[in-house]
Amino acid sequence: MKSLIKHSPSESKRGKEAAMPPLKPQTLAGLRRAARDCKACDLWKNATQTVFGEGSLEAKIMFVGEQPGDQEDMAGRPFVGPAGKILDEALREAGIDRSDVYVTNVVKHFKWAPAQRGKRRIHKKPRYSEINACRPWLDAELESVKPEVLVCLGATAAQAILGKDFSVTRQRGQLVDSSLALKVFATVHPSSILRAPDATARREQMQEFVRDLARIASVMKAGTSPSTRSPKSVKGSRNPGEAA
Ligand code: SF4
Repeated sequence: MKSLIKHSPSESKRGKEAAMPPLKPQTLAGLRRAARDCKACDLWKNATQTVFGEGSLEAKIMFVGEQPGDQEDMAGRPFVGPAGKILDEALREAGIDRSDVYVTNVVKHFKWAPAQRGKRRIHKKPRYSEINACRPWLDAELESVKPEVLVCLGATAAQAILGKDFSVTRQRGQLVDSSLALKVFATVHPSSILRAPDATARREQMQEFVRDLARIASVMKAGTSPSTRSPKSVKGSRNPGEAA
């Protein structure tokens, strides 16, 4: 069981809603339990539950998205809705076992607004202060899992983690200089593929997403900087469930 370092108070003061006290060293399971009662920003009020990260404590790759969606909010698990299915499919095609990765979000509660008609809950992008308020949980997950490879999914996660000037469009699939993990990348969020205007665009975007993941997997396996975009298959050892 890996232990966690204590977060410095400055890490908890990134926004006006960042009222979370420094997290005490504890296991991932302990963090998950503690996060259930988090009220460091207002997002808990309209959400069903905290959706903490999930995956193997020994995972080599951590994927970080924006926030849980409607189905994740109901299930209490990340990436189990339509975007999660896209991610599963892309991981399979890239030769990465989902059970070999850890998946989480920069924000742990679902932010939504009611649809103008019907009962649908429409995703709303989290504010900077909400992302900052939630950051200690992500930092604790990183410290606990210590992934070799960190992959930001989509602009919100990438800019929250890599800086507001980071452009996923320009820098997707490229190795990024960051102290958060040995190798850090960003690519699109799988939900963007669901929003493709037609089947052809969707197929092309999916292929590009798989290429990014396959390239990341090959870089991880080779332990070198990427030089090509050709997909290579890497199969991680199966390690189902979280060990904490
Ligand atoms: S979104 Fe994050 S910081 Fe805000 S209440 Fe939920 S767990 Fe706490």
